[in-house]
Amino acid sequence: MTTSKTKLFCLVGDPVDHSVSPEIFTRAFEACGVDATYLAFRVPSRCLGEAMAGLRALGLSGCNVTIPHKIAVMDHLDAVEGTAKEIGAVNVIRVENGRSVGYNTDGEGALRALQGKKIEGKRVAILGYGGAARAVAFSIASTQSPDEVIISGRDPAKAEGLAQRLRALFSVKSRPSSIEGLGEALPDVLINATPIGMAPWVEEIPVDRDVLRAGMVVFDLVYNPAETKLLREAKAKGCIAVGGMEMLVGQAAAAFEIWTGINAPLKEMRRAAEGALRSRGGADA
Ligand code: NAP
Repeated sequence: MTTSKTKLFCLVGDPVDHSVSPEIFTRAFEACGVDATYLAFRVPSRCLGEAMAGLRALGLSGCNVTIPHKIAVMDHLDAVEGTAKEIGAVNVIRVENGRSVGYNTDGEGALRALQGKKIEGKRVAILGYGGAARAVAFSIASTQSPDEVIISGRDPAKAEGLAQRLRALFSVKSRPSSIEGLGEALPDVLINATPIGMAPWVEEIPVDRDVLRAGMVVFDLVYNPAETKLLREAKAKGCIAVGGMEMLVGQAAAAFEIWTGINAPLKEMRRAAEGALRSRGGADA
């Protein structure tokens, strides 16, 4: 039951109606007996500062931040934790004693999804250089000792920008590659951090099939549909396919732990995410 003591968490983004975060966190709070509730707020960019001031003024306990505010929100916080500062994006905010602190859990979510897959000494290719790509690239470069991190996309200057930052921050081998040039790079791990393949563009694939080789780890951040065309092709070629659902649950679990200090109920959160996507019509959502 909601009372005057119930804590309020929320999602801030634009749009937010596609999000499954309310279902994931509501189930997690219930499963752990946390007296809290979670709502989604559509906040246009011009109102972001007011929304952040409102968060503190109304005494909310925290929020998730999604597209398009993950970078801009940093200007409206009292502090940004080290990893989020390095990545340059915030997807989780915790409010304590009236102070808002920003975190980034996307990278941790990606590492949870890749658990058990060998990254050390491997050639990792990341498609994209946006917010999620940066979080994934920074986590892998800083914790997994890859042989090399290749950043691939349609804008060579942006790809080189991210590669250059990885070299500077983590002394890791990193270089840009065109999407067409990826086949020659022979990556061992391929990560799609672009929206290509996401519903409703389910028949699209971000790389040429020839890039896929048996034994390669193929991780698609897209979680709707659960199995993208890239993952279907990867499985057909004998690759190890990892879908975006594990990262979705992993980044949410890390947020839950930052907010509550309690181990996240992973099974319940995954079930809630899957159920929410199904009820939105799955791949056609
Ligand atoms: P973002 O910051 O907008 O970055 C999008 C990236 O994709 C950019 O590098 C962009 O490059 C590239 N891109 C977009 N359309 C493209 C196209 N047609 N061809 C080639 N490249 C294209 O978005 P984001 O937050 O990083 O999210 C990226 C994807 O990851 C989304 O599908 C999102 O749902 C998913 N994601 C999943 C999770 C999870 O938990 N599973 C978490 C975060 C994000 P240009 O600048 O050249 O357009």
